[in-house]
Amino acid sequence: MMKQSRQDAGLKRLPMKWPHSPGIWGLMAGIWLGGAALCAAGEPAHIGAFKDYKGSIHVHSALSHDSPASISELISAANQAGLDYVMLTDHIPVQSSGRILDGFEGKTLFIAGCELLKGGKSPQLSDSLLLVGVRPDELPSPAPSLAQAADLAHRSGGLAIAAHPLGFQNWEAEIDGMEIYDLADDLLPSGLDWTWKGPDYAWRALKLRFLNASSEDVLPALIRRPTAHLQLWDRQLRKRRIFGIGAPDAHQNMQILGRQVDPYTVTLLLPAVHILAQELSREALIEALSQGRAYTGFDLLADSTGFEFTAFSASHARPIPQGSEIAMSPGLRLSVWVPAPQGDRFRVYLLRDGVVLQTSGKALLAHPLEHPGIYRVEVMLQRGADWKPWIYSNPIYVRSKVP
Ligand SMILES: [Zn+2]
Repeated sequence: MMKQSRQDAGLKRLPMKWPHSPGIWGLMAGIWLGGAALCAAGEPAHIGAFKDYKGSIHVHSALSHDSPASISELISAANQAGLDYVMLTDHIPVQSSGRILDGFEGKTLFIAGCELLKGGKSPQLSDSLLLVGVRPDELPSPAPSLAQAADLAHRSGGLAIAAHPLGFQNWEAEIDGMEIYDLADDLLPSGLDWTWKGPDYAWRALKLRFLNASSEDVLPALIRRPTAHLQLWDRQLRKRRIFGIGAPDAHQNMQILGRQVDPYTVTLLLPAVHILAQELSREALIEALSQGRAYTGFDLLADSTGFEFTAFSASHARPIPQGSEIAMSPGLRLSVWVPAPQGDRFRVYLLRDGVVLQTSGKALLAHPLEHPGIYRVEVMLQRGADWKPWIYSNPIYVRSKVP
């Protein structure tokens, strides 16, 4: 019997159910998705009309007072990680000495932005809002209210995303998305979490310092399914459309006994956000993200590029991507395809309104739709005896009628 981790336990209340035979819809999905893999080496995967652009959202550069790494280290790490884009979120006021990255550096598109904190002594206890696409030098001083900042983001063609959502209070603000995972929330928990995490940290710190382990091994071992964040997202999804992203809150500022724990090369992929857009431009990425055409992948564990969560309908010529809002109709089907990593076991969960509906250990899952609801997908990946979070889709909103 496989040992289940504590974070997987919440998803295991239902017995394992293997999927129905994929049938003709599954075959159609398979044939169509097979086409997705046929792209030139080095090019983004094609997902129907869109390309899969891998990047990182919620990243601090040397402009932030608590990010000692240089701009050139960040650029080289993003290039080395193969990121198509980085959405920066520097603390304000910015350090006057830094250069605002806003445009291509090598193959990576940097999009300037900032993080606004209101109240509380730490981001986890504050209203923290990411203003994607708002250059930090364009934010008025003194800093505006969260509602004004969200409005400014929208007028600048950008987005407002609630960060560290467990401490976020201002849900009535016009926000577009929220973090469903934050590496800082996971690694720097508050309260009782320390009682079981503390000894684990100490052991891993010793390994990092004295047993020549690398951050690439140590950090992934500490990540957990963000159960509280996901429950909060599910509650918000009952009230509104709101996209979810996983974020590294990358700073490259943690050292233990002289060893860098959180190099950008590691955190930028822990996790990444894949955006399904028509081209690699600021406007196309922001438009796609605003529509929820994106998924989170912990690509440091295994590359999730090409993951698909789509609906198929007789009335739509093309597959309907995640983030879409559709009406119930006869023959409507959901399809999930996972880029199975060689030799690693994974488990796919299809959820409706936050409750597991179907699980599978296979790359292709097909599900005939019988009820309206908010459908989303999670994938866990086995690492040793433990199960780690790997992929989080955005929802497909199935309504009885589209308003
Ligand atoms: Zn931050």
